[in-house]
Amino acid sequence: MTITTDAVVIGGGVMGTSILYNLVSRGMQNPVLLERTTLGAGSTGRSSGAIRMHYSTEVNAALAWESLNTYENFDEVVGGDVGFVKTGYMVFVPGDAVDGLRHNIALQRGVGIDTQIISREDAHELAPAFAQYDDEVFAWEPRSGHADPSGTGTAYATRARELGATVLLETPATSVEIENDRVVAVTTAKDRYITDTAVVATGPWSKRFMAGIGIDLPLEATRHEVFLLKRNLEELPFHPGGADMGNMTYFRPEGADLTLVGNGNREENADPDTYNPRPSMGYLEDVWLRLSKRLPGIAGAEYFTGYAGLYTSTPDLHPVIDKVDGIEGLYICTGFSGHGFKLAPAVGNVMAELMLDGAASTVNIRALKMDRFKRGEMNTTSYDFKVIA
Ligand SMILES: Cc1cc2nc3c(=O)[nH]c(=O)nc-3n(C[C@H](O)[C@H](O)[C@H](O)COP(=O)(O)OP(=O)(O)OC[C@H]3O[C@@H](n4cnc5c(N)ncnc54)[C@H](O)[C@@H]3O)c2cc1C
Repeated sequence: MTITTDAVVIGGGVMGTSILYNLVSRGMQNPVLLERTTLGAGSTGRSSGAIRMHYSTEVNAALAWESLNTYENFDEVVGGDVGFVKTGYMVFVPGDAVDGLRHNIALQRGVGIDTQIISREDAHELAPAFAQYDDEVFAWEPRSGHADPSGTGTAYATRARELGATVLLETPATSVEIENDRVVAVTTAKDRYITDTAVVATGPWSKRFMAGIGIDLPLEATRHEVFLLKRNLEELPFHPGGADMGNMTYFRPEGADLTLVGNGNREENADPDTYNPRPSMGYLEDVWLRLSKRLPGIAGAEYFTGYAGLYTSTPDLHPVIDKVDGIEGLYICTGFSGHGFKLAPAVGNVMAELMLDGAASTVNIRALKMDRFKRGEMNTTSYDFKVIA
């Protein structure tokens, strides 16, 4: 069948669904989203769901800050419940990295983020469950927390459908047809969507999908494990979310009595179709031990569950959000490594601005252009704390 549409969004993760919603809410008539299997089947469904602002570059901090407003008011802004829980977020930094923390907090405050370095006493008062060590420095984000990543993708898709978009599951895009350097159609096994606009938001499959269009992007899919522990509530009733740079862990509470923990570990070049999604005992032992150095009350917790998912990473661990130079109507939105969930509302918005207005205006995304690797203009800072998701 041949169908004519204003735009085709390829990929039903939190990025594709947010882009679709933002396009249709700005008046695009009938965009179509094609999803290979089900919504959230990629990184989104395995995300830790942490929402925090601590970044070392302005572009990521600004995207996170813009997005927080949507997460806090999702029902009002978009519609639906994405389970946002405000827990506060504490960042722990060893004394020898204090310059980095100061740099990052100043940068974040410049963006407008509600964050500050706090005293040892205030850190203890806010979160008595956390152990403290000599020379450590603490930062606190009172408005951060977590939400449900799959639920967010579903909420965006639901609202987009209500506004006129079409969402097709079990429908992989097989190619983007390009004629005379312009997008003319997107095809699936059965149908051909005639369109002048296509957005590739295929997460860990992006390198392969873009290669099929003849575009080589420096993307790597890497495997990351997380697990959940059931706390003994008498020993450890509650703790905020946090990132512990000394012990290399990030963590957050889940529900009434669980703690989710990860450490941003990576294994190179995982294949999105064949990687091992199960947890490993070596990782569990190692990360549980490190977590208990910060949260001593977690030592007596019970293992609940664990799993692995994929980050899609660029060489500077920043995403690519851009129109593809030389191919009119082709857009790319990928490479979010461990940050994409918290950035998704603002990313959908800037993508819609880029596509409909010709440039993003809410946040300056020049630093995320796809040719930056060739130009040697990577987003590298010596103050990047890589542990945090
Ligand atoms: C273990 C883990 C923990 C994380 N923790 C956090 C966190 O705490 N906070 C945070 O902000 N971020 C976190 N992230 C990162 C975040 O989850 C991702 O950056 C985000 O989900 C990426 O969304 P996406 O839409 O780009 O990709 P995906 O969710 O992978 O979506 C891509 C979609 O494209 C589909 N697709 C692929 N090929 C095709 C095709 N040819 N046609 C149609 N569809 C196709 C796939 O099926 C998939 O559904 C974590 C990630 C992992 C793995």
